[in-house]
Amino acid sequence: MSTRQRYRLRAPSSGRETIIEADPDKIYVDRETGEPMEVLGMLLPLAPSPSRLPWSIENLRLCPWCGQMAQKDLNDCPTCGRRMGPLRS
Ligand SMILES: [Zn+2]
Repeated sequence: MSTRQRYRLRAPSSGRETIIEADPDKIYVDRETGEPMEVLGMLLPLAPSPSRLPWSIENLRLCPWCGQMAQKDLNDCPTCGRRMGPLRS
């Protein structure tokens, strides 16, 4: 289980983005420019989650039982709880 929430941060001048397990009370500074980074949003799935993969189309598969989306690093469907079987590549 990953319990820390991950956030997308951006350096305002360069537009460089990074994803970190951030503490919402801290200010994060860009390594190159030294400027404070803007918080763009939280990464799905929200912590705590059994999956480490962000919700994006390349990380998702369809559960063969219920047809709902599930992250590819999960063995059990988060919607119906059934074992999804090996991934076809
Ligand atoms: Zn399912």
